[in-house]
Amino acid sequence: MPRSVIGVTGGKGGTGKSFVATNLAVLLARRGLSLVLADLDVEAPNDHLLLGVERLENEEPIEVFFPFIDYGKCTACGACAKACDTGAIVMAKGRPPMVMPRLCSGCRACLMVCPYKAIAEDGARVMGYSYVTPVKLSGAGFTLVTGVLREGEEHTPPAIVAAKRRALRVAENADLLIVDTGAGTGNGISAALQETSLVIAVTEPTPMGLHDLAAILEITKGMGKRTWVVVNRSGLGPEDKHLELARKHGVERVFRIPFSKTAALAYARGVPLVDYDPHDPAAEALQGLAEEVYREVA
Ligand code: SF4
Ligand code: SF4
Repeated sequence: MPRSVIGVTGGKGGTGKSFVATNLAVLLARRGLSLVLADLDVEAPNDHLLLGVERLENEEPIEVFFPFIDYGKCTACGACAKACDTGAIVMAKGRPPMVMPRLCSGCRACLMVCPYKAIAEDGARVMGYSYVTPVKLSGAGFTLVTGVLREGEEHTPPAIVAAKRRALRVAENADLLIVDTGAGTGNGISAALQETSLVIAVTEPTPMGLHDLAAILEITKGMGKRTWVVVNRSGLGPEDKHLELARKHGVERVFRIPFSKTAALAYARGVPLVDYDPHDPAAEALQGLAEEVYREVA
């Protein structure tokens, strides 16, 4: 295990969690920490784009169980279809089952209930890929692990778990693993945050940001995680309800990153804001946050 694991999450997409995670990674690597950044936003990973990384490297397939059916043994009893709660097994009347690969989560329930041992135990299919890419920025070298779900796949948790396992292996002797979760508040987020000792929940001063912050704080509270809140694009709208929510949920600290047009320019050019313009107020706020994280983990 790495010495510390922290999570950066943010409810809906677009709050700026990847912006925060990538800039933190650059600043903390520059501070001398050996660091791995895991991009577990498997449906739309973009940390590499924010870091100016053109090509992901060291591809490994993410395989999950897949129920190949031996139609010589199958009696069309229907037990597998009843046990499948994702609707991946379809059966026309009197016909043997068919499995829809993209709907299958690989849970093995069908395998366990089949009374005729008609499902192969070692079936597998590729649902995505993970990558391990060295990132080399001036004075900041670290490793980026990226999980990518294949297009059309319905279930993110198996890919998140597989990519996180690879990140934990890569970060085995590192000072810090930063886990950048996907958008949303589903099971995949809890899976991504499992090993973290501190979660940074990124929100924005909008009604949607408030709504998603409430959902994320319920998750971190339920998981017993220490939580900090970062209000990104601070100044764009009222924040009093965000602060009240954070207080009610026992959030330890609240940071603000002011709205910055320069951040959008940095994003468009694939340069971390802290490198693009270190004196931009948002970059300075990120530096303050990084110092606090450094104190926590160093
Ligand atoms: S492995 Fe799980 S999700 Fe896939 S077909 Fe079997 S029961 Fe359904
Ligand atoms: S449970 Fe087994 S025997 Fe029954 S329909 Fe499914 S695969 Fe066929």
